[in-house]
Amino acid sequence: MPDLFIDGTWRSALDERTREIRCPADGSLVGVVDEAGGKDTVEAIAAARRAFDEGPWPTTPAADRGDLLLRVADLLLRDKDALARAESLDTGKRLVESEYDIDDIANCFRYFGRAAAAETGRVVETGTASVDSRVVYEPVGVCALITPWNYPLLQTAWKVAPALAAGNTFVLKPSELTPHTAIHLMRLLEEAGLPPGVANLVLGAGPEAGAPLGDHPDVDLVSFTGGLQTGRRLMAAAAGTVKKVALELGGKNPNIVFADADFETAVDMALTAVFLHSGQVCSSGARLLVEDSLHDRFVDELVRRASQIRLGGPFDERAQSGPLVSAAHRAKVEAYVAKGLAEGAVLRCGGARPSGPEFEAGFYYPPTVLDECSSDMSVVQDESFGPVLTVERFSGEAEAVRLANDTIYGLAGAVFTTDEAKAQRVAARLRLGTVWINDYHPYVPQAEWGGFKQSGFGRELGPSGLAEYREAKHIWRNTNPSPQGWFA
Ligand code: NAD
Repeated sequence: MPDLFIDGTWRSALDERTREIRCPADGSLVGVVDEAGGKDTVEAIAAARRAFDEGPWPTTPAADRGDLLLRVADLLLRDKDALARAESLDTGKRLVESEYDIDDIANCFRYFGRAAAAETGRVVETGTASVDSRVVYEPVGVCALITPWNYPLLQTAWKVAPALAAGNTFVLKPSELTPHTAIHLMRLLEEAGLPPGVANLVLGAGPEAGAPLGDHPDVDLVSFTGGLQTGRRLMAAAAGTVKKVALELGGKNPNIVFADADFETAVDMALTAVFLHSGQVCSSGARLLVEDSLHDRFVDELVRRASQIRLGGPFDERAQSGPLVSAAHRAKVEAYVAKGLAEGAVLRCGGARPSGPEFEAGFYYPPTVLDECSSDMSVVQDESFGPVLTVERFSGEAEAVRLANDTIYGLAGAVFTTDEAKAQRVAARLRLGTVWINDYHPYVPQAEWGGFKQSGFGRELGPSGLAEYREAKHIWRNTNPSPQGWFA
């Protein structure tokens, strides 16, 4: 069955190109999917435009749109096993992590399903009896939704659910490496009764299938999650037609551990912060800032435990961490570590591919700790997006804050301390979109997600996440019109 979904029809690419998808854990063939080129994407944009300008979806009552999203949430849970398996095969991620993701994805659809109906506008009090004034929310139009490979369906859900809730139509372009769950989602939207042309899917590489989404005049909004360089390119492309732009970009996230932190909790969470999903997490706590007096004890224990993390494929139940997504990505991580060592970092564990026949066909890289780093090193400033932790020392609150903020990024980070007042003071001064105190990584769909500084622009999830996909229109009605006489 063909894999591009355009105007309610499944079809192949116009030039009939395809791409093999292979599992990063062992190189096995997962599937062969259609590979769109720019012309396919332009057709998808036209379909989304028609569905927006002529179709019923933008003017469907918000409560009915919300009901459809709630049906999709149920369908996602019905198909949870198949979806989780597909996500793990495409990404190499542990099955249990994919299963968590599907629950989160269903929750996201549920949240926006309810939010859609909850607030559709507001009355404005003008204080004038002869005026009826209200603000209504309307969809932005045709949305280009472009997503990465690390949490393929989760990142897609964060865009698709609010875009639909607000009444938009869209063209989705997932990462070319991980297309299968996006295909499945389109089938569920169809099954739930979404009108043709509202949801369109193009698969393929960024420069070909993705590029028209950035500058096409019929696209009203670009919502992108991915790397900083691609984000800059898309923002520039969108400027020509002044599209609404939302960018969720990278991070180099500080995890600050004070000497008075609960030791066991802080070590445990420092490991989760950076090694979850092999570090391929935008909010990964890849930058450990540890108070000088605690440094030796803390890093010794962290290194001891990091060295014992078991690597394995998605269906190996004993595995604690999986492979990286591709050979190219592993090469990037390796180059990053080599650069760090050349800059003077001290390798405490990892740093070389694991040996053994079970690792030969996959893109494995072990948990790696680089100690004695400083914030002027590029290894500290740049995002590796792999299982690599850099360690810096600090002394006192002010230095912790200064070092943590000393980066172009501002996505997320954490503070570990038993001193509540200190935690709040530090959290208030961190230039980050999310700050965890004595915790790492949790999020809820009710709270905004997004970055300060060059980590992004705009918000996902929460009320502002829905607001990204809506225009506010002020309607002013004079209930007692009569001549004003200004130019009589
Ligand atoms: P990427 O920028 O290489 O690709 C992301 C998407 O953009 C893919 O679908 C790709 O095909 C597409 N693309 C590439 N060039 C394009 C172009 N010229 N026009 C249109 N589309 C184009 O990123 P990636 O390697 O897939 O993802 C990893 C990055 O994503 C990391 O930097 C990570 O921090 C970031 N990320 C951020 C968040 C967040 O919430 N802030 C979440 C997940 C991932």
